[in-house]
Amino acid sequence: DTFDFVSSKPVVEAIGDHAPIYAGSVGQQLQESLAQIDIDGCAADGENAFFVADLSEVYRQHLRWMRELPRVVPFYAVKCNPDPYVLRLLAALGCGFDCASNGEINSVLDLGISPSRIIYANPCKAASFVRNAAARNVGLTTFDNADELYKMKRFHPKCKLVVRILTDDSKSVCQLGLKFGAPLDNVPRLLAKAKELDLDVVGVSFHVGSGCYDPDSFRDAVGRARKAFDMGREHGYTFDFLDVGGGYAHDNFEPIASVLRRAIDDYFPDQDFAPGGKLVEGKQNGLRIIGEPGRYYVQRAFALAANIIARRDGKSDEAGEEPVKKTSAGEAEEKPEVMYYQNDGVYGAFNCILFDHQEVHPKVLTLDRKYVYRPEVDAPGCEDVSDLQACSVWGPTCDSIDCVRPMVHLPSGLKVSDWLVYENMGAYTICAASGFNGLRRSEVRYTVGEGHEADMVQSLLSAGAL
Ligand code: PLP
Repeated sequence: DTFDFVSSKPVVEAIGDHAPIYAGSVGQQLQESLAQIDIDGCAADGENAFFVADLSEVYRQHLRWMRELPRVVPFYAVKCNPDPYVLRLLAALGCGFDCASNGEINSVLDLGISPSRIIYANPCKAASFVRNAAARNVGLTTFDNADELYKMKRFHPKCKLVVRILTDDSKSVCQLGLKFGAPLDNVPRLLAKAKELDLDVVGVSFHVGSGCYDPDSFRDAVGRARKAFDMGREHGYTFDFLDVGGGYAHDNFEPIASVLRRAIDDYFPDQDFAPGGKLVEGKQNGLRIIGEPGRYYVQRAFALAANIIARRDGKSDEAGEEPVKKTSAGEAEEKPEVMYYQNDGVYGAFNCILFDHQEVHPKVLTLDRKYVYRPEVDAPGCEDVSDLQACSVWGPTCDSIDCVRPMVHLPSGLKVSDWLVYENMGAYTICAASGFNGLRRSEVRYTVGEGHEADMVQSLLSAGAL
């Protein structure tokens, strides 16, 4: 056995169908999980790829949110990663939830979370889903078109409505404006229709696009929301609800939060929402603000370990030499020398490459069956960089679109049955994975992490505190 076995007992017992939660760092969990896999003798699926989720990372992101945006209540976007422990933890921390479908609403309510903590943030809903939202007392939703207003009037007339406006999403990796959001020019007509139907429009929402890299998009969006508030007033509504959507990530958060705080102060001065125009000292003003962060909370909390199930070595497998291709600068074009095949790909967790425009970065977990992973070391994730080799990494299906990295450099000592690890795999991965080719979705092993944050996470989850 080449792995050090770190034995541990779960610190939170399994809940329902969900796996128990362990203590320790992601590295320890990876190491321990590998130690439990008999790569040469396990049954089918025994060496499947798996996630390790560090729940204390979710908690840290929450603390960071509360520090930077204390006025904005996070309504976690369930679509991003509907993991039951993530939902439980965020519920215990006081978050609300942005649900996009009946299934998401049910999964949140089934945890015992109050429907008052849900926004059904999909402007184009199936009628049966609206009826179920009404039956389950989910009373807040978005709209951006007149047909949705008729639908709400018919099936959920008492629901509070939020007009989703179109904003500039050109500075975001995943743009949503092509599909959702009413241009400001259309808002007066929509509000007139809502008034005519006697519907209760309470405020405005926007989404600048996921993976936003320009904080000024938020300033511009808040400015547009202000205009929509003024339109509301002209149509006899008194809006008091602002939803600043998603778009936040680990790397962009502080700059965005600072621009957002300032924009809210500038465009929505306290006096506008204080009763009678006067602020009561020490009291929150009457404007309720929420956000719908998804990626921000979970992206860094999940790592994925994948096993190298096969390999094609250009040197030993191919009969003849191909002619060397040249780059435009006349240099020989570098070609992968080795093709690695791992047991999760773009039809599974790595769908984020296709749908979420991500580039993933393999790091070496084991090298010639020895555990070598050092989380703090950049690619290749271990200190053995003496003999890096150009290679490509592929998923397990029989489709050639199933390519995880067409070109990357990894140590030449990697063998079939070694393991790779991918950090930052928590957002828009598991949730959209398919079972194509009869392959199983990668399962999750949980840890509360280390230190005092881990103690907090453990006590919240053990107490089942919602
Ligand atoms: N809210 C809505 C309506 C969305 O469509 C999305 C993502 O598509 C989100 C929130 C979450 O966005 P992000 O993951 O960028 O925070």
